[in-house]
Amino acid sequence: MNAPDARPRPRADRVNRGYLDAWREGRLVLQRCLSCGILVFYPRPMCPGCWSTDLTWTESPGRGTVVSFTRIHRPNHPAFFDELPIVLAEIALAEGAVLLARLVCPEPEAVTSGMAVQLSPAAAAEGHPLPTFVPEP
Ligand code: ZN
Repeated sequence: MNAPDARPRPRADRVNRGYLDAWREGRLVLQRCLSCGILVFYPRPMCPGCWSTDLTWTESPGRGTVVSFTRIHRPNHPAFFDELPIVLAEIALAEGAVLLARLVCPEPEAVTSGMAVQLSPAAAAEGHPLPTFVPEP
C-alpha cells in the first residue's frame, strides 16, 4: 500500500470542517437542520429542504445498507493503484441519510446491494481521508 499521505486530501473549509475533523477522530457526523429537522449530507451552508442556515452536527451510529455500488479498476490518482479494485458505494444510513463512501472489503466481488455495512473502526481514519465503511460481521 502507498503511504497514506500520498493520497489526495479533501480541502477543509468553513462548511465541511466539522465533518472532516470528526472523521479524523473516527466518527461520522451529519448536519441536521434546526429549522425543519432533516438530516443533510453532504455538508452544505444551508438546508436543502427549507434553506435555513441554522444547521448543527449530529453524530451517526454509522450503520446502513448498500444501495448501489461500483468497483473502480482505474483510479484517477496513482496513490490508489495498490488498492484496486476500490468499492465506492451509495450507503443508506439507518437514520435516513444517504451518502457516497468507500467500502473497504476483503472480497470486493462479494459486495451486493442490500449488504449491511458499518463505519470502519476509528483506526481507519488514519489511512483514509474520508469516512469509510466495512461489511457488518
Ligand atoms: Zn431545513
